[in-house]
Amino acid sequence: MAIGGDRGAALRAFAAARVPPLRPLLAWTFAVGALCFAVRGLVYVDSWSYAMVWPAVAAQLVALLKSPRRHWPVYLASFAVIQILPARFALGLSPEVGVLSTMTAAAFAALMLHRDQDWVSGRSDSLLSWRRFLFYGVFLAPLLASPIGIASLVWNGEIAPTRSSLVYAAMAWYLTEAVGIAFLVPLMLRWDHYRRRHTRREVLWFTAMTALTVGLCAASATKSSFVLVFLTGLPALLVLIRSGIAAAFAEMAVGSGLVLGSTFAGYGPFAASLDNPGQAMISAQVFVLGAFTMVVMVAAALEDRMRLAALDNASYKAYELVAELTGDVVILVDADGNLLRRATPGHEILDLPDGRIDKEMWLEQVHPDDRASRADFPESGALGPSDPFRIRKKNGTWGWYIVHSRRTPDGLTAVVLRDVTLEREVQDSLTDMANTDPLTGLANRRGLALRAAEIWERARTDGEQVTALFIDLDHFKSFNDLYGHQAGDECLRQIARVLKNLADPCLCVPARYGGEEFAVVLSGCDMPHEFAGGLAAAIRALRIPHLGTDSETVTISAGVATLRPWHTTAADADTAVAELLDRADKALYVAKSNGRNAIAVFSKDGTDTVLIGEQVHHAGEHPREAAGSGHDE
Ligand code: GH3
Ligand code: MG
Ligand code: MG
Repeated sequence: MAIGGDRGAALRAFAAARVPPLRPLLAWTFAVGALCFAVRGLVYVDSWSYAMVWPAVAAQLVALLKSPRRHWPVYLASFAVIQILPARFALGLSPEVGVLSTMTAAAFAALMLHRDQDWVSGRSDSLLSWRRFLFYGVFLAPLLASPIGIASLVWNGEIAPTRSSLVYAAMAWYLTEAVGIAFLVPLMLRWDHYRRRHTRREVLWFTAMTALTVGLCAASATKSSFVLVFLTGLPALLVLIRSGIAAAFAEMAVGSGLVLGSTFAGYGPFAASLDNPGQAMISAQVFVLGAFTMVVMVAAALEDRMRLAALDNASYKAYELVAELTGDVVILVDADGNLLRRATPGHEILDLPDGRIDKEMWLEQVHPDDRASRADFPESGALGPSDPFRIRKKNGTWGWYIVHSRRTPDGLTAVVLRDVTLEREVQDSLTDMANTDPLTGLANRRGLALRAAEIWERARTDGEQVTALFIDLDHFKSFNDLYGHQAGDECLRQIARVLKNLADPCLCVPARYGGEEFAVVLSGCDMPHEFAGGLAAAIRALRIPHLGTDSETVTISAGVATLRPWHTTAADADTAVAELLDRADKALYVAKSNGRNAIAVFSKDGTDTVLIGEQVHHAGEHPREAAGSGHDE
C-alpha cells in the first residue's frame, strides 16, 4: 500500500514537473491555432498561394523558447492537437504531415537557440545571437521542414509529383516558414524591450524612418517601382547605424510586412513583373530575406568596427592612466619625429600647443644650451635614458628631463619624458656641498681641483697663462690664542669675502685649502705679482687687529706661480694644476722663511729653483707695520 502510494506521488510529481502552467499553455495554443487558421483562411480565399508567411511556426518557436525544456512535449502536443483536430474534423483535411513539418522547424530552432538566455529574454543586442538566429532559425530550420512539408502536399495530392512543381513548392514552403521565423520571432521576443528601452530621440528617429519606409512602400506599390522598393533598405540602415540591430530589425519588419502584403494583394513591382502571383510572392520573400541577411551582415561589420574603436579607446585610456600614475610625459612620435599623441596629464606642464607638433617646434622647447646635444629630440637615440636636459615649462621655468624611448621597426617611437628637476636640484646642492667649504663658502680642495682644471682648459684654448696663489695667514695660531676660535673663524670669513671679490668668477677660483690656508687659481693675469700685492693690501686694509704680529693687524704671506698651458708637458689639466699649486706652495714657503707678511714668486732659472722673496708693502703705506716688519727668521 505504502509503495503504491509512493509511486502515485512520484508520478504526480513527474507529471507536475512536465505540465506547463495552464494560462501560458492555453494562450500559446490559442495563438498558434488562430494564426494557423487565419493563414489557412487566406489560402482558401486565394487558392494560388500556400501562404505569404507561416506565422504559426514563429508562435510555436517563441512559446518553446520562453518555457523550460521539460514543458516542451506538452506544448508540442497541444500545438499538434490545435492544428490537426479542427482541420481534420471541421475542414476534412489531413494536415498531420504538414503540422509535423512546422513543428520540426520550431523544435529544431528552439533546441539550437534556447541556450542563449539573452536572446530568449529579448535583452540581447549581441550580434552573435542574431547571427545564430539567422543560421539556425531562418536558414536551417525551414530547410529541415521544407521536404516534410512537400511530402505532405504529395501525400494529400495537392501537387503533381513533377520535378518543377516539387521544386517550386519546396521553395515556397521554405520561404514561407523562413519569413515567418525571421520577422515574427524577434518581434515577439523583444516586444517588451521595444516598448521600454529607447530614448526619446531614438523613438523619434525610428518613427521618422518608419514613416519614410511606409511612404516608399506605398509609392512602390502604386508605381510598381523596384527602385522604390530597394530604397526601403536605406531607412533600415540609418536606424541600424543610430540605434543598433534590434531597432533596425523592427523597422524592417514594418517594411517587409508592407512589401509582402502589397505583393500578396497584387500590387507593387513583384506582382507587376511576374504573371504568376506565387512567383511574385517568392520574389518578394527572397527580397525581404535578402534585406534581413544584409542588415545582419552590415551590423556585423559595424560591430567589428565599434569593437575596434572601443579597443582603441580602452588602450588609449590605459596609456593615459599609466602616464598619470608615473607622472611622466608619455608621447608617440612618427618616423619623421613629429608628435602624434600624448598622454594629457604629463604634457600639461609643458608649454605645447594642442594637436600635432612637428620636430622643429619640439626642439624650440629645449634649452638653447642643450639643443645641440638633443638634435634627435624627443628620441633618446640610445638604449638607456638620455642625459638630463632642460625643457621649457608652462610657467616659464626650465625643467630638467631625461628621455627613455623605443622605436618600432615601422618607425613609431614611444617616448617617456621624466621630470628629474628635483633630483637634479638635490644632486646640484649635494655637489655644491661636497665642493664647498662650509665656514667660508669658498670652494674646498675638491672644488678647487674641479674649477681650476676647467680654468686651465679654457686658458689653453684662449692662449692665456694660469696663475696660482697660495696664501697663509701669519701667526694665526696666536690669533686664536689671543682672541678665541670664534674670532678666528670670523677672521677667516672676512679674508674669504675679499678673495670672493677678486676677479671674474669665470676666470678665477678662490678656495680654502685647509685651516688658515687659501689658494687662488686664475687665468689671464698678466702681472701675477701685482695681483698678489693688491690682495695682500686688501687684506691689510681690513685692519683686523692682531697684537701677536709686528704690524698688529692680520697679514698674509703668499706664494705665486704662473704656467703657460701651451708650454707645459703635463698629461692633463689636473696634473698641470697640481704642479702649479705645488710651485705656489714652494714660493709660500720662501715668503714665510723671509719673515712673513711677504709675497714670493716662483721662478726657475737654469740649474736650480730660485725663489724671490719680497715685501710688498711700502714704508709710507703703513708706518707702524713698515717699522716692525723685520725678518726674524
Ligand atoms: P704661521 O705664521 O707660520 O703660519 O703661523 P700660524 O700660527 O698661522 O701657523 P700654524 O700652522 O702653527 O697654526 C695654524 C693655526 O690656524 C692653527 C689653528 O688654531 C688655526 N686654525 C686652523 N683652522 C682654523 C679654523 O677653522 N678656525 C680657527 N679659528 N682657527 C683655525
Ligand atoms: Mg698654515
Ligand atoms: Mg699661518
